[in-house]
Amino acid sequence: MNKKPNILLIYTGGTIGMIRDFKTGALKAFDFKNLLEKIPELQLLDCNIDTVSFNEPIDSSNMKPEYWVQMAEIIEDNYTLFDGFVILHGSDTMSYSASALSFMLENLAKPVIFTGSQLPIGDLRTDAKENLITSIQIASKQENHKPLIKEVCLYFEYKLYRGNRTTKINAEHFQAFASLNYPDLAESGVHLKINKEYLFRSSLNKNLIVRKNLDSNIAIIKIFPGISPQVFQSIFNIKNLKAVIIETYGAGNCTTEAWFINLITQTIKKGIHIINITQCSGGSVIMGHYETSRELIKAGVISGKDITTEAAIAKTMYLLGQNISGKSFKTIYETSLRGEIT
Ligand code: ASP
Repeated sequence: MNKKPNILLIYTGGTIGMIRDFKTGALKAFDFKNLLEKIPELQLLDCNIDTVSFNEPIDSSNMKPEYWVQMAEIIEDNYTLFDGFVILHGSDTMSYSASALSFMLENLAKPVIFTGSQLPIGDLRTDAKENLITSIQIASKQENHKPLIKEVCLYFEYKLYRGNRTTKINAEHFQAFASLNYPDLAESGVHLKINKEYLFRSSLNKNLIVRKNLDSNIAIIKIFPGISPQVFQSIFNIKNLKAVIIETYGAGNCTTEAWFINLITQTIKKGIHIINITQCSGGSVIMGHYETSRELIKAGVISGKDITTEAAIAKTMYLLGQNISGKSFKTIYETSLRGEIT
């Protein structure tokens, strides 16, 4: 007889874990220990569910790398005991966390599905139950007794996305996330349709390595018409700064004024990495496509290609934490490590 998959539900915080007191209207924390009693539908799923919670669940707007390490350690400690992991997380920084975990969990061969909700689990019109139930169902999917999904994903409002390709696009709609540069991995309708051709597949069968060293000595600058040299100067002069992500226009364009190019060139010479990503929600940086970005190639700017801002932040912290030498940093950054760039 086939063994039912074991799924670990990790509650980190966020709206999904809230329940409304119908008398006072106040939101209070939901007790995940009694999850199966509170959501009896879960017993219909063909898997065993265990739960673990952060000691002090957080609103995800308080997210920081220490919490990413905490999540990664829960997965590391339970990796051999479970076939899949579902992380319940606030939606505000879910794309950042999913991106970070994708880099931290090297050689991942099991599903890690982030989900959350716009309305608390106890609300009448909640989106939490569908998100939770389908995420568990997806995490339990197997093929030849092995997990079908072997990557960090995000499930929200009937769609499964590659985690490091997502962005929160709406603060109100149930469809709060989008993956503009990579197709959906699955869609939940009458049937659960998994788009197998888009799933991440690493060719090597290696053991999980959990990379916990993240370096947050980074900054991000979104350029705008009229941005002054002082803004760049003050950021480039931050003590211990190791990398700056610049959100440029369109396909990676920015001003060609001499002060800008000089500042970028000098900063790279000082050993600070500069990464060019686009402000557009979809599409890619193609440096050299227009004259305005040709100078950046000469200066040694790294192309973030079609990476999201969230994944760029996570990848930068992760690669800095790996102590990669100057030149290789650019080559590795411009390579897809976990399917984060095309
Ligand atoms: N502020 C909340 C959080 O991100 C919103 C949510 O739970 O979706 O934790």
